[in-house]
Amino acid sequence: MAKTQAYEGYCKGTPTILVKEKFGNANVYTKNTQSVLNKASGFISAYDFTLNPYRGCQYGCSYCYAVAFSPNPPMRQDWGNWVIIKQNAAEVLEKELQKWYEKNPTRSPSIYMSSVTDPYQPIEGKEKLTRSLLEVMVKYQPTLVIQTRSPMITRDINLLRQFHRLRINISVPTGSERVRRDFEPRSPSIFARLRAIGILKHSLPCNADYDTRFSVTMTPLLPTLEADMFSLINKLQVVDRVVIQEFHASHNRTLVASTRPEALEITKKYSWWYDNEQLNYLVFRDKLVAMLPDIEIKEGQAGFGYD
Ligand code: SF4
Repeated sequence: MAKTQAYEGYCKGTPTILVKEKFGNANVYTKNTQSVLNKASGFISAYDFTLNPYRGCQYGCSYCYAVAFSPNPPMRQDWGNWVIIKQNAAEVLEKELQKWYEKNPTRSPSIYMSSVTDPYQPIEGKEKLTRSLLEVMVKYQPTLVIQTRSPMITRDINLLRQFHRLRINISVPTGSERVRRDFEPRSPSIFARLRAIGILKHSLPCNADYDTRFSVTMTPLLPTLEADMFSLINKLQVVDRVVIQEFHASHNRTLVASTRPEALEITKKYSWWYDNEQLNYLVFRDKLVAMLPDIEIKEGQAGFGYD
C-alpha cells in the first residue's frame, strides 16, 4: 500500500492551524519535485509529457476527476481546499528539457499543461510559477497545449506570443451561469472566460511562423438552458475547435478518473437534462455542427490532440 504523505492538517495530530500559509480557502504547501515532465498517458497519450505546476486545485470543481490523484484520503475529501506548490519546478523543467534535446536534437517535445490541476488557479496570481515555466519553455519551443478555465492566462500574452506551436484550451462546460455556479462555484464566470478567448485571439499571432490554435473544451458538457444556447454557440465562432464529452462513468475505485459524488448529487437538480443525458448531448452536438460549420467539433479523446 502506498505510504500516506504527511501534510499538516491532514494527518493525525497535525491540525490545519499549523499550515504556514492560507490563500483564500486553501491550505498552501510547498514541495521540491524530482521531475515536472511526466510521461503522458490515457486521454492525452498523444503528447510526450504532462506538466502540472501545482498539485491540487483551488477551483475544486464538483466533477473533477483529478481528485483521484490526491496525496491521501483526507485531502481527497477536502479537494479544492489545498494546493501544493512545486517550488523548484522551473529549475527542474530546464534540466529536463536540456536532457530531452541531448537525446532528441531534432524533435521538440509536446507538452500538455495541465492534466490534473489548473495552471492559472488563483494562487498563480501571487506565485507566478506557471509564468516561470513559460519563461523556460519559450527558450526550448515545445509544442505546447495549455488547458485552463481562468482569464488569468491573458496576463502572460507577452510570453505566449513567442511560442511557434501553441494551442490554448479554455474550459467552458456550460453557457448558463446558474449551472456553472452549481457545479463549479469557485471558478471564473463564463463571460470572463469567453472574453479571455477573444483577447487571446486578438493578441496572439497566427501565421506561417506562429501556429496558434484555440479550443473550447466542454468536458464534461453540463446542461445549458435553452435561453442561453444560441448565444453561447454563437460566441464559440472565434475558436477553431470545440471538444465535447459526457460525464465519465462513476467508479468506487479511488484512483480511477470518474465523476465525483458531489457532481452526481447536483445532477438531480437538472433532471430535465440528465434524465435524457445522451439525447440532450446529441442534440447539443448537432446544434454545434449546424451553427459552426467551419469549426472542428470533436468528441472525447479525439479532441485533446494538438492537431
Ligand atoms: S479547474 Fe480543472 S483541475 Fe481544477 S478542480 Fe476544476 S476540473 Fe479539476
